[in-house]
Amino acid sequence: MIAENLKIVREKISEKCSAVNRNSSEIKLIAVSKNFGLNDIQTAFDEGLRDFGENKAQELDAKFERLGNKITWHFIGNLQRNKVRFVVNTAEYIHSVDSLLLASEINKYAGKISKIQKILLQVKTSDEAAKSGIVAESEVRDIAFYCREFKNIELAGLMTIAPFTEDKELIRKSFGSLRRIRNKLNSEGLNLKELSMGMTSDFEIAIEEGATMLRIGSAIFGERDYSKDWKEKL
Ligand SMILES: *Cc1c(COP(=O)(O)O)cnc(C)c1O
Repeated sequence: MIAENLKIVREKISEKCSAVNRNSSEIKLIAVSKNFGLNDIQTAFDEGLRDFGENKAQELDAKFERLGNKITWHFIGNLQRNKVRFVVNTAEYIHSVDSLLLASEINKYAGKISKIQKILLQVKTSDEAAKSGIVAESEVRDIAFYCREFKNIELAGLMTIAPFTEDKELIRKSFGSLRRIRNKLNSEGLNLKELSMGMTSDFEIAIEEGATMLRIGSAIFGERDYSKDWKEKL
């Protein structure tokens, strides 16, 4: 099932890229494997996927222990400062940095293990109360510029989650505003390449709006079954 799903997702990505004159090689597909087990990850790996996303520090740590370096891990969840070391030890990218304090903690630990940690700033681009991320554009700018002072952080781009709605124009607005903020910061001297946006329900709009990283879970792995804990699936 995973192989077939993945084929469909890849076809949709490449069709959408042709439709809007983008090269699909500039878009990284991240398979969001949260709450899925090692067998599912291995199957997707065998189909050629190398980038996987997790949203819990402990779950990422456990999967890293078993699958390790052959995978490029992306951390996409809410990150508490006391879990920073697990994530810096394992993740190539941390997409969900939403405060200067968190960036500073990441920088400190990355320094201890002599790593340059790639991060993205998570921006709240909708009015939805449940979504996290930095709200004010001025704060995104302040944190982004401050990150240049951090020797062990590379700020790679911005990330957002679109509102949970059927309204495609609201979703487009959310992605479009992330792109505009990124472009503005780049015109002011930063060099932010990545726009991490687009999930199962909205990745085609995200491609139209310039996404460079798609975070797709259920379209690849199927519905997540939360009746069982991830620990039971390892
Ligand atoms: C779970 C999750 C995804 C993937 O969601 P799907 O709808 O299953 O594709 C993407 N981004 C974040 C931050 C997530 O937590």
